[in-house]
Amino acid sequence: MGSQYTPTMAKIIRKLPAKSRTKTSSLAAKSGQAKKPKTSKALTAKTVKLKPWNAAEVHEAFARFRKANPEPKGELEHLNPYTLLVAVVLSAQATDAGVNKATRALFAIADTPQKMLDLGEEEVRNYIKTIGLYRTKARNVIALSEKLIAEFGGVVPRTRAELETLPGAGRKTANVVLNMAFGEHTMAVDTHVFRVGNRTNLAPGKTPLEVELGLERVIPDEFMMHAHHWLILHGRYTCLARKPRCEVCIINDLCRWPEKTI
Ligand code: SF4
Repeated sequence: MGSQYTPTMAKIIRKLPAKSRTKTSSLAAKSGQAKKPKTSKALTAKTVKLKPWNAAEVHEAFARFRKANPEPKGELEHLNPYTLLVAVVLSAQATDAGVNKATRALFAIADTPQKMLDLGEEEVRNYIKTIGLYRTKARNVIALSEKLIAEFGGVVPRTRAELETLPGAGRKTANVVLNMAFGEHTMAVDTHVFRVGNRTNLAPGKTPLEVELGLERVIPDEFMMHAHHWLILHGRYTCLARKPRCEVCIINDLCRWPEKTI
């Protein structure tokens, strides 16, 4: 979920002055951070003691994200809170692009729980069969639509606890819906946010929940509305899993990753 970096954003990519780089490296060397584990997997706060971020650094990082992309948008296509909920449920272990390809036609004829029930599980399955785990997901879409009608008057609930009772919806789904549909300052942690939180040492954690709570703790409220998207975009397009693009990263001077390539 989120928009791609634009050419305008590329223009403002920040080049770190050589002086700062030298300083960062020498500090890292002094504290033993320069020691490189053999694999990226080993690079967590668990194996290397990394310096925590201070409040000014966190503010600076998010001010840069905001400047680069003031209004980040999710990449999952949807028409209303209900279709957003369905899209997020379908996006588990699938790409946003793949989900969008399937849901464009589906949402054109079923954008409410009742219309989805009228369509029926078999037809839903046909629409989404290009998405992984489509049989289970079709079953969940029908079941969550039934539950929305039976228990919530056909309306998507606005609390995490209620959202989490819906079939196929976990904490991450609830956080995405609360943030994107209802403007809550929640932090949904997907694979990208989890990686960025740990690598940068902004909010290290062994589980998505630990990272979520850590990010909520350190990110100033003024940035929380969009922080989820900024971090997803950062992980998706810059801090890539296998080969992070540290040379064009706008927070490369702040990042604590010992293996950053700058
Ligand atoms: S410097 Fe590299 S590792 Fe650190 S956040 Fe940027 S891209 Fe990721």
